[in-house]
Amino acid sequence: MTIRVLPPDVAAKIAAGEVVERPASVVKEMVENAVDAGASTIRVEIQQGGKRLIRVMDDGCGIPTEQIPLAFARHATSKLTSVEELTKVKTLGFRGEALASISAVSQLTLVSRPIEQEAASRIRIEGSEQTSFGATGAPAGTIITVENLFYNVPARLKFLKADATESGHIYRIVSHYALAYPHIRFSLQTDTRTAFQTNGSGDLFDALAAVFSLETARKMIAVGEEDVLGEANPSVMGYVGSPSLHRGTRDQIIFFVNRRWIQDRALNQAVIQAYHTFLPVQRYPISVLNIMMDPAMVDVNVHPTKAEVKFQDARSTFRAVQKAVREAVVAASPVPSYGNPAPAPNFGGVGGHAGDTAAWRTQNEHRGLGFSQLGFEVQRTSPTAFDGLGHIEHDHAALTPASAVPLDETGIPMMRVVGQVQQMYIITEGPDGLYLIDQHAAHERILYEKLMAQKAEAAVARQQLLEPAVVDLAPGHAATLAAELEVLTAVGFELEHFGGNTYRIRAVPEMLGHAEPVQALVDILAEMADGAIPLAKETHEKVAITVCKRASIKGGQVLSQEEMRELIRQLEETTAPRTCPHGRPTMLHLTPGQLAREFGRH
Ligand code: ADP
Ligand code: MG
Repeated sequence: MTIRVLPPDVAAKIAAGEVVERPASVVKEMVENAVDAGASTIRVEIQQGGKRLIRVMDDGCGIPTEQIPLAFARHATSKLTSVEELTKVKTLGFRGEALASISAVSQLTLVSRPIEQEAASRIRIEGSEQTSFGATGAPAGTIITVENLFYNVPARLKFLKADATESGHIYRIVSHYALAYPHIRFSLQTDTRTAFQTNGSGDLFDALAAVFSLETARKMIAVGEEDVLGEANPSVMGYVGSPSLHRGTRDQIIFFVNRRWIQDRALNQAVIQAYHTFLPVQRYPISVLNIMMDPAMVDVNVHPTKAEVKFQDARSTFRAVQKAVREAVVAASPVPSYGNPAPAPNFGGVGGHAGDTAAWRTQNEHRGLGFSQLGFEVQRTSPTAFDGLGHIEHDHAALTPASAVPLDETGIPMMRVVGQVQQMYIITEGPDGLYLIDQHAAHERILYEKLMAQKAEAAVARQQLLEPAVVDLAPGHAATLAAELEVLTAVGFELEHFGGNTYRIRAVPEMLGHAEPVQALVDILAEMADGAIPLAKETHEKVAITVCKRASIKGGQVLSQEEMRELIRQLEETTAPRTCPHGRPTMLHLTPGQLAREFGRH
């Protein structure tokens, strides 16, 4: 093989691949440039999820005419001049490669005018080729329009997702920058609507209300004091949710370091730990926190899209976040009374089942777990097996003889329930040994097959609410709902648009009949937007999985003997009892041989 230097257009496309993965990456780079340009208003427009068009307009410093071609050269930047500066970057950009990369894989038009210049200049670049450059009229600032992203890289184009999915990623980027820079007026326009806009008041509370909803913003607690830039000790500022505000996913734990949006698993954990004992199990807080620190203490040049950073002292950053959040949460909460069951949350006024609305009970709530909540259609025939306190009672049901059990590859044998451990796993005995069954995963499997069977017969069971519940959605969630309304209807929701981002819930899937409808819908939308389910799955399948996940019993719920038996019985009847719809195992099996070996009996 002969080694050759790649032609420039090929090299440019390869380099672009690192920065530009999808429309949202373009939006991120261009919004960062607008922030660096000192804009006070940033307007983002997208068409067809950004695939057809992305336009970012700002009123920042603009680019002088003679420097415009240079802005598109690789490694050309106005933000760095020396290696030393790289160790203390204060701007969001610094590599000088975004415009070069974006213009290599799209048809790009830039119009820019510094305020002191009379006329604006306009340049058009298609696949790195300059096709025009001249003067034009425009207000001070910069407008960059990126059309037909990846038009010349079909391999990339193929991997882009549905418009709604790509819009969702863009929404995440723009809304997070809006939270990081509350003094900048942000707006995001999609083909049909204003997804959200902030007022640029400089007050983070206003930005929270615009991005999440006023209702959510009101349930948030301020963290920390004024920014102190340049101190070695990081300072942590922002808002965190009060313990009554929680989500089924971690995607609303948001961090900025010196106002750069970053993702950091350890810091997520710092926030989650700060809520220890305050949140129900498997629920996650909402937080929007900016960590200010000496730029020399953080390396922002460790990730291709700058989405992750490296802290010189990661432990002290972790501690600072945890301490700030914990202090705020503790200060805002009444003293928790350990050991006393918390009163069931009262959502009032919703449908005909106000007495039993909590499908997400906390660890303390051992009582009142009804059969109906499990979605089981059984009569309680044996009151002695259910003492209401979750105590395990011995089940004297006869053990099925091993010889009588037909076993195939995927099925499971008849089992005898032994008990529950960690309020999470059910121990059973089968003819071929011992099983540990994950109660949540098992229930997900059962509900999923039930729902799929109903869908196949076009007879999805829904529960009408006596009075429709009104929900004011965060704009991102409203966009997801609008895009997937048909699929949500197919699984049993009946939703009615009520203007803006407000919807009326008229009916819910029957399996969610005992959940608080607003909370359940919001959780499902968050989960859908999160994309935690393998992308290969069809949307309708993903939504079905998400609904079942939300409806199923969770870890932390004490089950009576009767409930466990019913769960196992229904699991036995499923076609794929050994995995949950996400593909994780529902059970672990220990054969008599394994047990004997472990105990040294051989
Ligand atoms: P970087 O941001 O790393 O410097 P980019 O390729 O994103 O690299 O941009 C190159 C240069 O173009 C920037 O350094 C800046 O001088 C100029 N530029 C880009 N976008 C804008 C904008 N919206 N307003 C003013 N100048 C801009
Ligand atoms: Mg840049």
